[in-house]
Amino acid sequence: MQLVFLGPPGAGKGTQAAVLAREMGIPQVSTGDMFRAAVRDQTPLGREAQRYMEAGELVPDEVTIGIVEERLRARDCQNGFILDGFPRTVAQAEALDRILSAMGRPLDRAVEFRVDEEEVVRRLAGRRSCPQCGAVYNVHTQPPQQAGVCDRCGSQLVQREDDREETVRARLAVYRTQTAPLIGFYEQSGRLVRIDAARRPDEVTAELKEALGIA
Ligand code: AMP
Repeated sequence: MQLVFLGPPGAGKGTQAAVLAREMGIPQVSTGDMFRAAVRDQTPLGREAQRYMEAGELVPDEVTIGIVEERLRARDCQNGFILDGFPRTVAQAEALDRILSAMGRPLDRAVEFRVDEEEVVRRLAGRRSCPQCGAVYNVHTQPPQQAGVCDRCGSQLVQREDDREETVRARLAVYRTQTAPLIGFYEQSGRLVRIDAARRPDEVTAELKEALGIA
């Protein structure tokens, strides 16, 4: 199955993509994770992406589309994938349709994770992630077993630089103006599924599976 997860930062796209990808045996393709790895390794891509990320802005389309296209051609994506955080602009969504149509494998569904902005700000303030393995926690709703330490790999958890409140507000404004129009784009072509993402993670997973017919 070939899926796109849409929704504001903090809606739980990454958490749900990780669960579903594991269960379905397909990769979670997160452009945010790819950019963070590039920044950590200070590659040329990372150096370019870093200034946009720190400001809460989008990395330019040409750069982002290029890395996604390369990733989707990899062998492990042949049986499907979950795109988490891509596309984020209409140009990216159109490019994705072109890429997938050239590969002869159209997108199955775009899932919109619906949650209001104040909830997102609250969630992101509590989000902590592992700089080593990418695992994500929340100090209120999904704390690690030992405070500040990753359950999976034992590394020290950090708050993402761009999860600070002013940057979150900037990212939400970018979502509203540049990414929310994609909901109409997928709705018009009959590929949109809407999920109430304001609930507990396990409830969201159940609704998601039912909506995708994989319950
Ligand atoms: P995320 O982890 O998905 O919230 O992404 C973190 C940051 O990476 C975003 O605020 C953007 O700066 C950048 N980024 C991730 N995905 C994209 C994308 N599809 N297009 C442009 N920039 C992106």
